[in-house]
This record gives sequence, structure tokens and C-alpha cells, in this order.
Amino acid sequence: MAISRNLLEKYAELIVRTGANVQKDQVVQLTIAVELHEFAAMVMEACYRAGAKKVNINWTYDQQDRLNYLYADRETLATVLPWEEAKMKQMVEDLPCRIYIASEDPDAMQGVDPQKLSSVMQSRASVMKPYSNAIDGKHQWVIAAYPSEKWARKCFPDAEDAVDRLWEAILKTVRVDEENDPVAAWKEHTSFIEKKAAWLNSQAFTSLKYHSANGTDFTVDLIPGASWEGAGAINAKNGVFYIPNMPTEEIFTSPVAGKCEGTLVAVKPLSWNSQLIEDFAITFEHGRAVSCRAGKGQELLEEMIHMDEGAAMLGEVALVPKESPVNQCGFLFYETLFDENACCHCALGMGFKEVLPGGDDMTVEEAQTKGINDSIIHVDFMVGADDLSIDGVRADGSTEPIFRNGTWA
Ligand code: ZN
Repeated sequence: MAISRNLLEKYAELIVRTGANVQKDQVVQLTIAVELHEFAAMVMEACYRAGAKKVNINWTYDQQDRLNYLYADRETLATVLPWEEAKMKQMVEDLPCRIYIASEDPDAMQGVDPQKLSSVMQSRASVMKPYSNAIDGKHQWVIAAYPSEKWARKCFPDAEDAVDRLWEAILKTVRVDEENDPVAAWKEHTSFIEKKAAWLNSQAFTSLKYHSANGTDFTVDLIPGASWEGAGAINAKNGVFYIPNMPTEEIFTSPVAGKCEGTLVAVKPLSWNSQLIEDFAITFEHGRAVSCRAGKGQELLEEMIHMDEGAAMLGEVALVPKESPVNQCGFLFYETLFDENACCHCALGMGFKEVLPGGDDMTVEEAQTKGINDSIIHVDFMVGADDLSIDGVRADGSTEPIFRNGTWA
């Protein structure tokens, strides 16, 4: 084990108490790789110490998915079996706290036909998505990371101490070290983000204008009354505050689906289904991605945009200053949890109905009529160039600088 037991326990405690914020008598569902069984036990104990009623583990294994995709046929993989559906039904009933520990090998799906992957995804989503919609906003969840050997080697191919280096970066971004009190550090961090979000909400911008020398020239309409959110969320079922992503640096909202114009140029590669899309730009007309170009992965990018109706429209715009600790790490994590917290980004696909007043109680269809996008995908891509400027436009036409040179104006 690369890091001390003390640090690991501190981290597990932070994930459970500050992240998922497990409450007395709640059921917890922990999703974690089989290789991390020792850490799984630590997280489990932390849940019970927090008062959990029962902790169930969903074990994952990179090779299981990879080999299934390589050898099993499309129809078999696309079929959702009754027990899988029963598990989802149970989840809608229990509304468990969900803790997800990301540790995947970014290359796990390499060699798998991307078309097979997306078509299986599409079929399974048609059965599973109603269940995930049903628990959306009504349970606490958190994603945090643990560096696997393969993931670390992907980030630092030539380093002998790759795992240690990835640990160092992860712990830095989640504000855990030997001496500090991470819970207090997170309180300070979330209150900074909340202040910025409150300012954005007070401005009631109706659209945003993006500009950068790299070719980004883009305008997007915002939903009147929709809020900017950041750091934490509230479980609408019990009012408990939780932090879904660790790390988190972003303040985000969902724009009007189908109302944006212009070009967004990506500043970092995008890893989708274990494959990289690099040096790319997406051009929107009447709110839909109408063309894209990529130095690498053009076909993949096109496939992504055509996954379903909503895949060509935006579901999220997010503000992250370039001084973010993730960006300071200076390398690509090949993991959205980190990479999306490096700089400003937008996401194609599903939007967040919880940004609407009363959104938690709306159906997906109701949220759609208010402008929230729906899709089976939600893919973040980074547009936060070092010189990025973003202006907010109000209903009366007046403008206010929000970002200058990649950071808060
Ligand atoms: Zn985001």
C-alpha cells in the first residue's frame, strides 16, 4: 500500500461523512473494484460508524466488462435480465446512499468495437433509465477515486512511482494530508463556491458569451430562474446536504437545450469509452451540434453526438478557474471526475432538472418543456483556455464580465 493507513482512514471517513453524508439508518450501496477490498472494508466501517443500517457492495472488475464485450454477442449484452431490473426496482424503494469509488484502467475497453459499446449502452439505457430517473435528486451519492496500478501507469507511463504520484495528486485535490482536518478544509472550500454561485444567481444572466483566441466564439441561452449550483446538493427526500463529486471545483447550470450558436474549441483531450478524442471543436447552429472536427477520434466524436436526440445539445455549462488544484497537477487524469474540474467546460447530453425551481419533483418530460436537455449521455469537454473570457448578458442587454483570462473577473 502506497500510503499510510492513517491517511486512508481519513480519506474513507471524508468520503462517507462529508461526501455521501451517510445518516443514521440509511442503506448504503458501495460500488468498488474487487482489487480494492481492503479500502472497501474501511469505507464500510466508516458507514457503520456514521449509523448506516446496512452496507451492500457492488463489486466491479475491469476484465469482466472487457472480456464480456470482446466475446459475448451484442444481443446477449444488451439484454437486461429480470434480476438486474429487480435490483434497480429495489433501489427505487430503498433510495440508498450510493458511494462509487472510481479506479478504472482508462484503457480497459481498448480493442472493443465502439459501435458495439454504444449500441449496448443504448439498449440497456432504454430499460434502466426510468429507474435512474426515479431516484434522481432523491438520494445521496458521491464519486471519489482510488488509484489503480493501470490507471496510474496511464497517467505516468515512464514513472516507477506512478501510483504514489497519482495518490499525491488525488489527495491534494481532495484536500487530505497527514496534518490537516479535511472536513474543515471542505467547509471552507464549499463556502467559497457557494458565494460565487450566489453572486451568479443574483445577476440573473439570460445568456453567456464565450471568446478565446483558439477559435472559441460561442453564445448560449440560460433558463430564466434556473440556478447555478456548486459543491453540494440537497437530497430532496430528507433535506440532507451531500457532495456528489470529490474533488469538485465547478459551478454549473443547465442551459436552454437547443439555444446556442457558434464554436467551442476543446483545450484538453476527451476520453470516451476508453478512447481519446483530441484537438477537437464542435460547431452549433440553432442549439444543435451540426459539425465537428477532431485531430484524432473524429468518427468517435460523431458517433457520440448521434447517440440519441439529446446528444447533440448541451446539458451543462460549468465555470472552473484555471487555478483549480486539478489543473495545477498539470496532467490529464483520463477520468472525468478530475478532468472536468480542471477548467471551464460544457457537456453534451443530459441536463440537470434540479437547477429548476421545484425541479426535483418534475418528470424528465416536464423538465424538458422548461429547457432541460435529456439524453442517455452526459459528456463533459473542456473549453477553459488560458485566455478564455466569458461575459454574462442580462435581460436588458447589459453585460458583465464573469471570466477574464481563464479565471474569475
Ligand atoms: Zn460539470
